[in-house]
Amino acid sequence: RVKQEGRCGLRFYEASMNASLQLRLQLEQELAGAIERGELILHYQPLVNGITGEVETFEALIRWQHPSRGMIPPSDFIPLAEGTGLIDGIGRWVVEQACRDAAAWEQPWRVSLNVSPSQFRRSDLTGIIANGLRVNALNPERIVVEVTEGVLIEDTAKAVMTLNRLRDLGVRIALDDFGTGYSSLSYLQLFRFDKIKIDKSFIRKLGQNEDALTLTRAIVNLGHNLGLHVTAEGVETQTQLDMLQTLGCDQIQGFLVARPAPMGAFTELNRARVSALFAKGRQRRAGE
Ligand code: C2E
Ligand code: MG
Ligand code: MG
Ligand code: MG
Repeated sequence: RVKQEGRCGLRFYEASMNASLQLRLQLEQELAGAIERGELILHYQPLVNGITGEVETFEALIRWQHPSRGMIPPSDFIPLAEGTGLIDGIGRWVVEQACRDAAAWEQPWRVSLNVSPSQFRRSDLTGIIANGLRVNALNPERIVVEVTEGVLIEDTAKAVMTLNRLRDLGVRIALDDFGTGYSSLSYLQLFRFDKIKIDKSFIRKLGQNEDALTLTRAIVNLGHNLGLHVTAEGVETQTQLDMLQTLGCDQIQGFLVARPAPMGAFTELNRARVSALFAKGRQRRAGE
């Protein structure tokens, strides 16, 4: 009886494996044609000045607008794209689209682009970005490339060379998800990033947990002592914002300010609301 159940359980397991494998293969196939069908879109989320609340940068965040499955988040297809090499074409599309978008904005905000590790290693990122700059007559200072420490794990020397070539183009380079990896600190020695983005896992606990405040303060000070800009991502509450302003965090990103949305969704009205969120910190600053 036990044996029978076991077999039954195994069969069920196999069936669900097949189902998820099938889904994966189907998604892969669909993803291969997604660019041509115009199903990939970029949403933008503002990164605002830590003192004034003014928009400085928009981070491009990819979504797959699937005709039947709805909006698919990057966590559900970027890993797939990385595993299959589809990331090359997608990554190129993101750079081209973001450069085109930024060139058309009414103000010279920066645009921040995410580059995943395999994309960073495989594609001629420098060439693709140089091309995007040239075609759209875009000032390189308006581009920020966000990488995670994953790009530096393998083939470190080559990765540092690529980062230097990007730097030579005149674009800025940010270390994303700072604090979540295994050796974030040692990566700061390998390359002089322009900015670190404190991972949202720290920010989430700000205001609940004394240790989170201590760690966040330490990261902000570490960044500043190295001459880097510091952005906090995942800021969702006024309490978190007030704490980050007190710590002197340079830039704020999170749902409190705005969720990622199609460009144009962040209007004057939003800007007035955000400015009010930052009023307390501005006053404190003025009184210093
Ligand atoms: P990331 O670069 O660390 O982006 C920040 C993520 O945090 C985004 O998720 C954003 O929507 C989310 N976020 C922002 N503010 C808040 C907040 O206040 N609370 C919470 N809970 N979340 C917040 P998203 O858009 O789902 O992107 C996830 C990841 O996918 C990104 O993490 C990035 O690593 C990757 N990704 C996004 N777009 C691209 C792309 O064009 N190319 C590549 N290679 N990867 C991308
Ligand atoms: Mg990012
Ligand atoms: Mg991040
Ligand atoms: Mg991330």
